[in-house]
Amino acid sequence: MRIVLLGAPGSGKGTQGEKLVEKFGIPKISTGDALRAAVAAGTELGKQAKAAMDAGKLVANDIVIGIVEERLEQPDAVNGFILDGFPRNTAQAQVLDQLMAGHNQRPIDKAVHLAVDDEEIIRRLHERAVTEGRHDDKPEVIRHRIEVYNAETHPLLDYYQAQSKLVTVQGVGLVDEIFQRVLKALQ
Ligand code: ADP
Repeated sequence: MRIVLLGAPGSGKGTQGEKLVEKFGIPKISTGDALRAAVAAGTELGKQAKAAMDAGKLVANDIVIGIVEERLEQPDAVNGFILDGFPRNTAQAQVLDQLMAGHNQRPIDKAVHLAVDDEEIIRRLHERAVTEGRHDDKPEVIRHRIEVYNAETHPLLDYYQAQSKLVTVQGVGLVDEIFQRVLKALQ
């Protein structure tokens, strides 16, 4: 199963993605986690990504595409994967489709949209700012990340709808309830 998770920052992609990992035994590939690891390790790539991340802007396409391409070539991703935080704009989605067309890969099966309204998103991100202390969970950066999502990532709903792959799940409620909705949507 090849799944793309879509949704605003704080919509629960990471949480639901972990539950899919447990359920299906396929890896989750999170570009946000990979970028934070690169920043923490102080690699050249991390240095290039840090300023954009701290400002709530998208990191350059060639950097994130390079990360995803390398990760998808690992043996554990051959039978399926869950993408969390990628693609984030149309160019990335097009590259992903091209990658799936090569390398003996199969196409993406479904794009799962976790729908959560803006007010709830803002509430969750402010809460996460307190509990996790992420650099990009400052109020002005949160606002910008939501703007970037609406401008660049939200159009991907149409992109996957046009491929008849989009499923939308209400992302508000108990984690397990939402997960049951995700599983149903994937059937
Ligand atoms: P969230 O979804 O909570 O905003 P992520 O952990 O997915 O956070 O991403 C954190 C930051 O990493 C983003 O704001 C962006 O700067 C960068 N990033 C992650 N994935 C991508 C991507 N696919 N393209 C560009 N930048 C990305």
